[in-house]
Amino acid sequence: MKTDLIRAIDVHLVSMPVAGGLTDATRKVEEIGFLIVRVHTQQGREGIGVTYHEVGGEATRELIIRNMVPRLLGRDPLQTEALWWEFFHYLRGVGRKGLMYCALSAIDIALWDLKGKFFDLPLYRLLGGNKTAVPVYASGGWTSYDDDQLVAEMGSIVDRGFKALKFKVGVEAGQNINRDVVRVRKVREAIGPDIKILVDANNCFDAATAVQLANRIRDYDITLFEEPVFADDIPGLSRFRRGTDIPLATGEHEYTKFGVRDLLLNEAADIVQADGARAGGYTEMLKIAALTQAWNVKFAPHAMENIHLNLMAALPNGFMLERLLMFEDLTQSVFKNPPVPVDGMMHVPDLPGLGLNLDMDFIRSEGR
Ligand SMILES: [Mg+2]
Repeated sequence: MKTDLIRAIDVHLVSMPVAGGLTDATRKVEEIGFLIVRVHTQQGREGIGVTYHEVGGEATRELIIRNMVPRLLGRDPLQTEALWWEFFHYLRGVGRKGLMYCALSAIDIALWDLKGKFFDLPLYRLLGGNKTAVPVYASGGWTSYDDDQLVAEMGSIVDRGFKALKFKVGVEAGQNINRDVVRVRKVREAIGPDIKILVDANNCFDAATAVQLANRIRDYDITLFEEPVFADDIPGLSRFRRGTDIPLATGEHEYTKFGVRDLLLNEAADIVQADGARAGGYTEMLKIAALTQAWNVKFAPHAMENIHLNLMAALPNGFMLERLLMFEDLTQSVFKNPPVPVDGMMHVPDLPGLGLNLDMDFIRSEGR
């Protein structure tokens, strides 16, 4: 039987300041960073995995280097299922959400990239998919923008060919839904009826307030309302869902199939937005995707569109990818000629694995 074993693993951190800081309803983003894992094999293959952070990148790197790399050297990278469960149990006492899973996600994604390269197939084909392109929406529209800035950015997204866009609600830290209603109206009037509008409250409301806002903006044709309440307020998500007919999206702060199971058991999501760079990599995202199929809800992974592209191309219930405008410069710098949206679609590279190539000159010059 053919095999190839892990020889070495490199970890790189790159970050960029966010000029001026961007504010949503609950936080200010001042820096964004990618943690990049390169898994090298004895036969010269290289698998690429990525997670990202606003804080905690150094801690994630330390965990990978000190505690994960020694257990991976000499192992068979095709054993993604076995290795995932091994690390699940190895790490379970110190983290079942958060940075532990950022670390495991980056490693797991790199192993799946290697798997595609080993079999010389794009991952979506290895996973049995047949799509060559996936819809993608652009997201930005921070609450720190004034109304004119918001409308201008949303207009620029439409000008770039996107068919769907997302912006923030919850201005003034969620204390002024009258202003949110005005902003939604202004965007809808500016972009016309044919572009999908998604709104994101970033955890800021209680359920009663979020339902009030949803019912006041429903006539502007809202495709989804994201994270109306705190991500862990599963009863609040359920209450929101019963109070409006705007579809409820959540899950970017959920980890593993167990977290998504609880959302679905509690009827707390119409669109699941788990993020493979945090929730446990491709191994776990395939299981999360299966859960969304079993519950007949949509699956729309949060952010990291280049990482999720092959996964979504393999899924029958994949809804849309998300391109965070905030990450565009870093993404274009870290990868060499990555896929970019064209007319609201991302096309899957006809290359083995994830089909991504790192710009190591940039990573070495900017990285830590
Ligand atoms: Mg969000």
